[in-house]
Amino acid sequence: MADPKRSTTYKKAREQLQKCDAKPFLTALDLGLFQPYSDGIVEAFAAKYYGKHRYDGPTKLDTSKIPWPRLPTIPETQKMLRAVMKQTDYSTMPTTGSSEQDQRAAEELLINLGNTNFKGAYAVMGLDCTALGDRRKSASTGWPATLAESDLLCDIMPAGGVGELNMNDCHELCVLVSGVRVWFQFPPTDHNLTVYAKLLKSRSKKTHKPIDADDLSNLRGGVVLLQEKGETVEIAPFCPTIMISTEPSVSANWMIDIAEKVPARLKNLHLFSIENSGLRGNEKKQAIRQTLLARQRGLLPSVQAVLEGNIQHLDEQVVKNELARAWESGKDALNGLLVASGDGTWTPEKIATMWVESMMGPTTRREQSCSICNQRFNWNRHPRDEMKRRLQKHFLEEHWPAQKPAKAKRKSEVESLKIGQPTPTKRSRKK
Ligand SMILES: [Zn+2]
Repeated sequence: MADPKRSTTYKKAREQLQKCDAKPFLTALDLGLFQPYSDGIVEAFAAKYYGKHRYDGPTKLDTSKIPWPRLPTIPETQKMLRAVMKQTDYSTMPTTGSSEQDQRAAEELLINLGNTNFKGAYAVMGLDCTALGDRRKSASTGWPATLAESDLLCDIMPAGGVGELNMNDCHELCVLVSGVRVWFQFPPTDHNLTVYAKLLKSRSKKTHKPIDADDLSNLRGGVVLLQEKGETVEIAPFCPTIMISTEPSVSANWMIDIAEKVPARLKNLHLFSIENSGLRGNEKKQAIRQTLLARQRGLLPSVQAVLEGNIQHLDEQVVKNELARAWESGKDALNGLLVASGDGTWTPEKIATMWVESMMGPTTRREQSCSICNQRFNWNRHPRDEMKRRLQKHFLEEHWPAQKPAKAKRKSEVESLKIGQPTPTKRSRKK
């Protein structure tokens, strides 16, 4: 592989990081551990570390792929965001402590959008900008087996602002409306996910320290991308990612949920718990936690969609088999998620029925086997309803965690079960 430091992307990214004085990231970059992103160079590298599909690896789309007829100018962007900020209740990140001061800090940031050197200390994340959202063309065109697409949210960041190390369970698309950003993305290997979980654990402690170069150097297979105005960065699920806004910038972000990633979402559900455990205590944290849990529960309708089938452009049986293989490793986290969020709509019985319907299909065969453990059931001695009942009982006994009747026990169960979190980036969703 060519020396990464000789690539234009590397040089430009370095220049940008230097300009906004992002020292830890410069140090990390200078370790030479990152593959600079550029078409062609990254393809073989991505296939090796990230996955075989185009949408598995780091991707950057040029300005012709923006989701609007044209890119809004800075004055237009300021006008749209100011309108949103007037109507919504938001806080800066970090918060100044008072909503009045938050508003002043946000206004100052907004005024300075075109001022490339403006280094404010506050960002505004996850603004629901309907003006941009409504004008958006559907981005799911060309995406395989899309199950859902989220609303579009805007992040406004000052020069030197950092989107902390984060990971999503769906694809995230981030279009840069103005400014420049540098991204470090890592593949979802077992090694990286283990390192990521450790970093999150240390971050949820009170002695929270920002991610430094040492932390980044523990992750493997990293790619550095430079994102300029009008470019879209796509982040695949479970890729730990960190981003630095090197100029004041505005992005529009949204998520795409594709069927092929549902088994991986289930398998990795436990990873999302760690940050959640840091979200206890005050009302605001609890509210964020509930929002995240609610989003995480979105996995269930996606599981249902896969089991029911009829998804366009999908090799259904392959994904169903993968889901069946992932079920045992994900069911505890799923149960924990439902208990923690107090969701009564997804009962164990409903989940069992969903699986049983999928296992049985519409036709009657001589023999029926459980698609999760392959246990066989002799079909012809029983009417269809009886077979359904047996499979249901089997699922609840073998493939769903035993329910603890005592409420007192449930709480400790919740804490130990490592339930759902990060998802729509901390960057974009935590208001
Ligand atoms: Zn079974």
